[in-house]
Amino acid sequence: MAHSVPLEGQDPQGNTRRAVPHSESARAGQSQPVGQGEPVAQTFDLVKVYGSGRTQVTALNGVNVSFQRGSFTAIMGPSGSGKSTLMHCLAGLDKFTSGRVVMGGQELNKLSEKQLTLVRRDRVGFVFQSFNLLPTLTAKQNILLPLELAGKKPDKDFFGKLTASLGLSERLDHRPSELSGGQQQRVAVARAMITRPDVIFADEPTGALDSKTGTALLDYLRECVDNLGQSIIMVTHDAKAAAYADRALILLDGQIVDDITRPTADDVNAALSRVEA
Ligand code: ADP
Repeated sequence: MAHSVPLEGQDPQGNTRRAVPHSESARAGQSQPVGQGEPVAQTFDLVKVYGSGRTQVTALNGVNVSFQRGSFTAIMGPSGSGKSTLMHCLAGLDKFTSGRVVMGGQELNKLSEKQLTLVRRDRVGFVFQSFNLLPTLTAKQNILLPLELAGKKPDKDFFGKLTASLGLSERLDHRPSELSGGQQQRVAVARAMITRPDVIFADEPTGALDSKTGTALLDYLRECVDNLGQSIIMVTHDAKAAAYADRALILLDGQIVDDITRPTADDVNAALSRVEA
């Protein structure tokens, strides 16, 4: 692929995994089991209750999960199952009721507000359905903004590799209005990655893209995991999108009810129809 450049973070054999959804044949060729290695984020008996009394809602009801560094996880489940709440608690955006969250080695419930702000700034990146780029800034300025806000100098080498990996090298001086939807979302991915966060949280990242552009974006996300060792946690409703992940978690009523390794779209659809039945 034209946008595939050799980068550090490849597997020990120097192989780059094909940026395609999992299939039975691709699965048979995998040797490294998902779920081993150093966790980048973990929850222990995580509970989140909104409100009190009769309006009380238990959004997370004892979630125990461990996300491996350098892996791509899809979170799925019916509307109201707790996907957003889990993502917000992991990212330090939302306080939880009980349990523990460990992100990049730090226990979030033990941090002050100031320390939590630093976790959100330095350890996590976000990609939203609606891109959220600043219209008056060029692609390059948008990508570098998080570093500028943190008063940090960009690493030119990493910036070059990142933007090449995302196929953006020729688009850096363009403003968002001069870019396609897919290009804008790739700028948003680069902006999320420029601080080299422990985890990128992607909330329906292909939701505003047509199917072809969405597929291309998922290829790029897969390459960021394979070539740059980025950890990604993506909330999605789309089984085809989940098939790009190493693992799909299915949530129902605030609990993880299925955990599928190297999912195919069929696996995910079958699991979703079981919980939606
Ligand atoms: P999902 O992302 O899977 O659609 P959410 O995490 O948004 O699920 O919601 C889980 C449950 O928590 C739902 O019942 C929802 O109505 C409830 N909930 C979410 N946010 C709030 C809130 N701010 N106040 C009260 N209830 C909420």
